[in-house]
Amino acid sequence: MPQPKPSDPNSATAARALDPILATVRRFWGYQSLRPLQAEAIRAGLDCRDSLVVMPTGGGKSLCYQAPPAVAGRTDIVVSPLIALMKDQVDALRACGYPAAALHSGMDLEELRRTEREIAAGKHRLIFVAPERLLTPRFLELAARLGVSAFAIDEAHCISQWGHDFRPEYRQLAELKNHFKGASLHAYTATATERVRRDIIEQLRLENAAILVGSFDRPNLVYRVLPKHDVNAQVAETLRRHRGEAAIVYCISRKDTEQMAAYLAERGIRAAHYHAGMDADARRTAQDRFAAEEIEVVVATVAFGMGIDRSDIRCVVHAGMPKSIEAYQQETGRAGRDGLPAECVLFYSAADVLRWHRLIERSAEEAEVPAEVAENGKRLLEEMRRFASVLRCRHAQLSAYFGEAYPAPNCGACDFCLGEVEGVADATLLAQKVLSCVARVDQSFGIEHVADVLIGADNERVRKWRHDKLSTYGLLKEMPRKRVINLIYQLIDEGLIERTTGERPIIKLNAQSWEVMRGRRTVKLLEAKKPKSARTKIEEASWRNVDEALFEKLRALRREIAAERRVAPFVVMHDSTLRELAASKPTTIEALSRIKGLGERKLADFGDRLIACIKEPSSKA
Ligand code: ADP
Ligand code: ZN
Repeated sequence: MPQPKPSDPNSATAARALDPILATVRRFWGYQSLRPLQAEAIRAGLDCRDSLVVMPTGGGKSLCYQAPPAVAGRTDIVVSPLIALMKDQVDALRACGYPAAALHSGMDLEELRRTEREIAAGKHRLIFVAPERLLTPRFLELAARLGVSAFAIDEAHCISQWGHDFRPEYRQLAELKNHFKGASLHAYTATATERVRRDIIEQLRLENAAILVGSFDRPNLVYRVLPKHDVNAQVAETLRRHRGEAAIVYCISRKDTEQMAAYLAERGIRAAHYHAGMDADARRTAQDRFAAEEIEVVVATVAFGMGIDRSDIRCVVHAGMPKSIEAYQQETGRAGRDGLPAECVLFYSAADVLRWHRLIERSAEEAEVPAEVAENGKRLLEEMRRFASVLRCRHAQLSAYFGEAYPAPNCGACDFCLGEVEGVADATLLAQKVLSCVARVDQSFGIEHVADVLIGADNERVRKWRHDKLSTYGLLKEMPRKRVINLIYQLIDEGLIERTTGERPIIKLNAQSWEVMRGRRTVKLLEAKKPKSARTKIEEASWRNVDEALFEKLRALRREIAAERRVAPFVVMHDSTLRELAASKPTTIEALSRIKGLGERKLADFGDRLIACIKEPSSKA
């Protein structure tokens, strides 16, 4: 891959006078400045000083390991867990004129050998490899021949069993320091609590490492947690607020993803499902169609994510609760990586907590994971449950979990701070009705049956037990069944009702239940108001001065360029770049070069087409 030629002879001279890091970043990526901690992380890379960099998704970690080899003119290695992740990064780097390559099992032998030859000839600045390939004799020899002096470990939390995404193949990375005595290691992760951080440092044997921990807060994400009642309809309604925009819907099970995707497709939403049970081709197709903007919504299990680099995801929905705050942070973190506002909606029900609980216990019983990992899993699950059911500013809660103080009293970007959650009127009375019904059915039935009795359902089971004769029969007949079920779950969450575990859980009363029934304890129950379909303030601000019609036109042009080059549109340009273009409407190459995200290569490759698109009179359809 040839080095990019400066499009304007003066710019090269001008750039040389600047700090070499900034000059490189401007030349390849077209960024005008560095983000917090990027400078420190890049410095550590240049100085070959071990480092641990913890930044949220979208914080800009990749630049930290991409810049040093370009500045120093050397070849570095990046260890990455997924092929899709490597491929997207290599595509994006090449679009910037940055020579990079990956070696992975998805390549045929010929391609592998050709790439190895290119690497050996020093053609590439960055080589992406999977951890299992890194320590093969063949690769070790290649790396030794190149005299590699720095390794970046992406998704470094995968090395720790205290994290949420432990990968045994990462364990081998502990050997790196033996094989490359003088080389530095640079660990990168978006999710690491104190314990995981210590573990990463220990396992990789980092020495005198620069520890760079960025802020976890993502101010551009709006968090909402809503009680789950009719999840299909709730998800469809959420997605309607994001028509034509990219979204991910996370479900717990594979079956859920298929059923949900079908439901959405029937309602005219361009959606596809994605899970680890699909064959590699089908998964790749779903991913490619999403990347190419042929579909807007992917309904997926957690299997979908790490490989998805699309930066313009405007909405992440959790139709099922994630099993840890780390997972939640990482999955929601895929929204708004371009820095523009995005919405994250979690539909919460206590049933999902129990579901995860059972899954964790089962995998411990079947000895898939060691007992302490299962215990840790339950602890992480409980933290997540608390996050979902406690009513406090979501940004503040997430920050606190990652050991950070959140400064603002009102974030303006969560359901709580936006005033979208309200208490149910007469909650104590409602709770008393529910509890007395639990007592009347002898504390021997499950949630659904109790709800049926309360709403006065006329069904076989109710009649069989003669529960239609109870005084509590039909006590809440004006309420939809799903709502009653949700209220019962809230009472379970508050510890006011016990629920047994096992195949057919039943609900029972405890000491607190009696306090409520005797009027010695008041109860708070919540109800979510519907979020307004209008944009929030931060969304509003992100569209300020943007010519939305031009934005769509530029988006179409981006798709066209992407198709010509057989890469994904987000690899060509980010939405934030398009919005800047659609706001400031530059009509000269000089003016274009001031737009964030347009480096020299991109200006030379399609600057003229952008200008033509901007100048073109808008069609009056
Ligand atoms: P991470 O790997 O931490 O999730 P990325 O490296 O993918 O994040 O970066 C997230 C987004 O931020 C990308 O869209 C990238 O282009 C942009 N970005 C990174 N660094 C800068 C910078 N210094 N200036 C402007 N945009 C940046
Ligand atoms: Zn808030």
